Amino acid sequence: MATITRVRGIRTRADGTWAIVKIETNQPGLHGIGSASDHFRTGVVMAAIEEVLAPKLVGRDTADIEDIWQSTLTSGYWRSDSVMGTVLAGADMALWDILGKEAGLPVYRLLGGRCRAAVPVYAHAAGDTLEALMDDVQRYLDDGWTYIRCQLGAYGGGGFLEPGTGGRPRASALRPPFDTTRRGAFDDEAYLENVPAMFGALRNRFGFGPKFTHDVHEHLRPHQAVALAKALEPHRLFFVEDILPPEHVAYYRHIKQACTTPQAMGELFTNVAEFLPLVQERLIDFMRIRVSKAGGITPARKIANLCEFYGVHTAWQEGGDNDPVNQMAAYHLDLASWNFGIQEENHFTDDELAVFPGHAVTENGYMYGSEVPGLGLDIDEAAAGALMVPERAARPKFMAEDRRADGTMVRP
Ligand SMILES: [Mg+2]
Repeated sequence: MATITRVRGIRTRADGTWAIVKIETNQPGLHGIGSASDHFRTGVVMAAIEEVLAPKLVGRDTADIEDIWQSTLTSGYWRSDSVMGTVLAGADMALWDILGKEAGLPVYRLLGGRCRAAVPVYAHAAGDTLEALMDDVQRYLDDGWTYIRCQLGAYGGGGFLEPGTGGRPRASALRPPFDTTRRGAFDDEAYLENVPAMFGALRNRFGFGPKFTHDVHEHLRPHQAVALAKALEPHRLFFVEDILPPEHVAYYRHIKQACTTPQAMGELFTNVAEFLPLVQERLIDFMRIRVSKAGGITPARKIANLCEFYGVHTAWQEGGDNDPVNQMAAYHLDLASWNFGIQEENHFTDDELAVFPGHAVTENGYMYGSEVPGLGLDIDEAAAGALMVPERAARPKFMAEDRRADGTMVRP
């Protein structure tokens, strides 16, 4: 039996946006790590680790994972807020890490064992022009990737009324005087015109062998989301992601009646009650909650098991702002979940990976973890500190504000 003696947060990445929970125990050398990263609220997360998590957990038996999860969830009476859910996830992953080390087994074996040889990952291909996108797709195909997300330009790309992103002249965008955003105006109709055309061109060039996905980033009005899903049907996507924001999930009923384009949803969810109807009514095909935003391995495993009974597959969210610890937590769930669907690509530099010895490796579109007991990776605290650039870490970080031509903000 191990007892928790210390809980603290370690902040790293050049911009200071990764927060790692470290749980130490009364057993010599026995500790665990978990991801509590929140790109936009790192300071708040760090404060919550110190002010809430540490006093709640010190003295507890590390093996009481379920009870620690339940009692911490409701320790502030209200629950399901994204910051506290993430902090709780950091503790939960660290406790699974410790349990694995005590058992001498990698976490996926504690979850039921391996269902597959490795974990397929989907790539992020993008280009400001169709030609640039095609080159990026070809680069991934040449490297052996099968699953490729295709985007025109950056976040929201394909729907902006400016040259290079949507192909329409700048003059057609009526910019309001108070619009301080750097980018052009987002236009639903431009998006509906450009994205299906993009997939038409991609299928013409690459055929139906590659498994293509697309992320709408919740930009469209609900009725336009239905229209897009229908327009994409002939291009047979592996899935379209976040075609609706969480506020309008009821529209999935219309989408499912209108077409067969597979739907992936969930990276903005933090509470199982939000998406339960979508699973029960089989309105989505892939569940995309970020493991840390779900609250860690404990709830994510339950979500995966629930989805299995409804024919919904997992596609845990990763992407640009996640850290190697969250990636590894997803990896263990991916290996052990029969209804695994796909894993999202991450973007790490060599300097960042050096902070996490034992990190997963992605090669030719497949991710491989280590067989080291626990999560399989650790944190080099000196390297973590050296990586952070204080001026960058101190800067406030906010989500991009895309706006329509009249200045109305587009909800992500
Ligand atoms: Mg997404």
